[in-house]
Amino acid sequence: MRKPLIAGNWKMHGSMAFVAEFATALRNNETLPGDVDLLLFPPAPYLAPLAQALAGVPVGLGVQNIHREANGAFTGEIAAEMARDIGARWTLAGHSERRSLFSESDEVVAGKVAAAVRAGLVPVLCVGETLAERDAGSAEAVVARQVRAVSEVAGVEALAAATLAYEPVWAIGTGRTASPGQAQEMHALIRGLVAELCGKKVADGTRILYGGSVKPDNADALLAQPDIDGALVGGASLEAAGFVRIAAAGSVTMGSASRQPPR
Ligand code: PEP
Repeated sequence: MRKPLIAGNWKMHGSMAFVAEFATALRNNETLPGDVDLLLFPPAPYLAPLAQALAGVPVGLGVQNIHREANGAFTGEIAAEMARDIGARWTLAGHSERRSLFSESDEVVAGKVAAAVRAGLVPVLCVGETLAERDAGSAEAVVARQVRAVSEVAGVEALAAATLAYEPVWAIGTGRTASPGQAQEMHALIRGLVAELCGKKVADGTRILYGGSVKPDNADALLAQPDIDGALVGGASLEAAGFVRIAAAGSVTMGSASRQPPR
């Protein structure tokens, strides 16, 4: 049984005032679903203040990026151990903005997944194809390569410890969403790959999130798909009420109490 997980990626947005306002809105929201895990990835400087402001509210916290090494002369970087030290329990790895804007290769991403697991963080491994790759008919091959790289470089245990997020690059921040059918097809492929690499039991328990312009008004249809176990939400996670509405869609649509792993 996989409990739905709704994660918000704030990217490089926010301020101390925003943190206080967002936390107050969550704290006062009486519709926070109890059967859905909530998770936020604020910019690293706001993680500790957000943790403090959300004390007692059941929301996990993670960082958006870590370095592969535990320490050293890597100016501007943050080690997984440091993230854990300030209260993070999760990290993103391989977000498409990191892959494209910061030239992170599959190997670098795999190194970050390994570093996260070593430090006791749960990595959310993001995979997804560009529009050109989809149009060329290579979406499946690209995503398979990205997943396989983690088991090859970081080991199957690291892949088994990860939560995955399928995020077609053409749907991130564009307002264009994969159709529920397109997303389900890719999620099933990813789960099949995890089964091949880590075994069926692991695959049945692995949460695979969908990301790419998820909003309150399209969340129901996406989250109703059998292999979509939650959402990684960018823009819409900056508005507390909308974020909670997406979480509620996870609760109602997926019915976590009765959700069974696919056969
Ligand atoms: C993301 O940042 O992972 C994302 C999916 O962004 P958006 O929801 O804005 O497309």
